[in-house]
Order: sequence, then structure tokens, then C-alpha cells
Amino acid sequence: MFAQLKKFIYAPGVSGDEGNIASVIAADIAPYVDRVYTDAMGNLYAFKKGTGKHPKKLMFAAHMDEIGFMVSFIDEKGYLRVSKMGGINFNAAAFSEVEFQNGLRGVIVPDARTAAKDFRPEVFYVDIGAKSKKDAERRVKIGDTCRVAPKLIRLAGSRVAGRPIDDRIGCLMLFEAAKTAKVYENDVYFVFTVQEEVGVRGAKTSAFSVAPDYAVAVDIGGAGDVPNCAPFEVVLGGGIAVKLKDGMVICHKKMIEAMKSVADEENVPIQYEVLESGGTDTCMLQQAAGGCVAGALSIPTRYGHSAVEVVDMNDVAGGVRILAGLCGTRFE
Ligand SMILES: [Zn+2]
Repeated sequence: MFAQLKKFIYAPGVSGDEGNIASVIAADIAPYVDRVYTDAMGNLYAFKKGTGKHPKKLMFAAHMDEIGFMVSFIDEKGYLRVSKMGGINFNAAAFSEVEFQNGLRGVIVPDARTAAKDFRPEVFYVDIGAKSKKDAERRVKIGDTCRVAPKLIRLAGSRVAGRPIDDRIGCLMLFEAAKTAKVYENDVYFVFTVQEEVGVRGAKTSAFSVAPDYAVAVDIGGAGDVPNCAPFEVVLGGGIAVKLKDGMVICHKKMIEAMKSVADEENVPIQYEVLESGGTDTCMLQQAAGGCVAGALSIPTRYGHSAVEVVDMNDVAGGVRILAGLCGTRFE
């Protein structure tokens, strides 16, 4: 799975600019499903017809987009000001290498006289090494997007670090589930959504168009096993986390139960996640059209939205088996 994750991570896809990652996923998943298509917003769907007597519409969603920046202004000296796309942690992004869609490289840095405690989006600029505004304009234009450079490294045991693990790891889980599911009791829609990081926008339209009976979003969660963190039950390596609630959703008990019984059957460890705030695509899946039975799997993750997000691939593998098991679950 490491090589496949790396492939998904290296394909760029800042919110609103997901074409590149979408085409990579589309090509890779096509052999395992019946149909691959996109919609007006750019959401990518991979559909597999169920063979059950009374198939339900089951939708899985993982977002393809990642946090990043959009060029908003080029100054006389050729430095770029950027608008943030999604929840950028500027303390984490400061002094990083950035990469544009066309491969151009730069660095994102704060104004020289700004102390770390005063980091705000407005004090940051991107230096692409241009000598002047004209020189810069030959290489980038207003509206181009860039991201902190992608990376994936192996840590001890089954752990990996890099970016954007959020949420290419979820995309990987959907892909692996499509690849390994043996029984399709349900009509399954593997949906790779756009613009999650700027407000779960692609999930809203894709869930409306699928109108699922059952839905599961897959995204990164937190981890309560790092020094000095707030009390939090979920730990890395403890198994995939089944979401109970976050700031935007209360998951349906029926879906929580369905996940638990697949996990028991497959002998896969799970943990339960209760988040005070925040949200993922799940809330939109739940509320689309007349609503559906929705739940979520969260990959325990340290240092989310930094360039060194850390996950345990054993948690990921367990999550894949739960998704594959749901494909073959007969919902009553
Ligand atoms: Zn995410």
C-alpha cells in the first residue's frame, strides 16, 4: 500500500484544482469497478453494481483535495502573495518548500520582522526566486495554486509520515476496498470528493446526486498519544476509529453497529472517536436530500495539516477490511 499511497500523495490537488489527482485515481480504480465518471464540480465516482436481491445504495466518500494556497498578488520584486485554501497552520507551513501544479518550486516564508507568535496569513509570501514582477509573471499567474511539497517516508514499524496524508490515505482506503471486496450485496459508489478542506462542498453535491441509503466518510482523525495533548481515547495502532460524533454530525447507531459487526467478523480492532469540534464529509452525507444512515471511519493521525502527518498503516489495513465487508453487508 505504501507505493500506492505515495502515488496518490505526489499527484497535486489543492481545493478547486483536483483534476490531476482525480485522473490518477480514475485510471487506477477503473479495473475494479463497472463505471467511473465525474460531475460538474469535479467529484469522481467509481460505481460497482451489487448482486444482492435487494441491493441498497451504499456510498463511501474520501476527499481528494488538500490544503494549499492560491496566488492572489505579485509584487514589483516578484514575490507572490497567496490566499489560503483550507485550514492552513502557518506555524507549520513557515519556511517550507512549495510546489505549483506545473512543477515550479518556491518557498513560503513570513515577513522578515514578524515573530513566530505573530504569524498571520497576511505576513506570508512565496519566493520563487524571480528577479522582478515580469520575471515572476512568466512563470505563474494570479489564480495558480501551490501546496507544501509532498512527501512520504517510512518511520519505525508500520508507521509513515508525510503530506498530504489528509486525505489521500482515505482515498487509498476506498481504492483498496474496491480492489479487495469479494461480495457486493449493495450498489456501491466509491466517491472521491472535491473541496472538503474549504467547507465540505463536494460531499454536499455528490451525496445529493447519489442519494445513498447508507454512507460512510473516511478521513483523518486525531490521536491522543502524543506528549502534552488533551485527553483523547484514540491512539495510533489501536485500530481504525469509528466516529460517534464530531462538531457537525452524530453518527447513526445502525451504521456504527454495522461497522462493529464487520470488525468482529474480520477480527479487526476498532476504537471509538468522540470529537468536540470539527467535521468531515460525513455531515453532508447524512443531510443530503431526505437524509441517510451515515457513519465515518477516522484514521488515527498525529500532526494533522502539517507536512509530517503520521499514521499507522495497520490501522489503515483494518479500515479497508471494514469497508470491503460493508460492500457485502445485507442491510435490513
Ligand atoms: Zn481531511
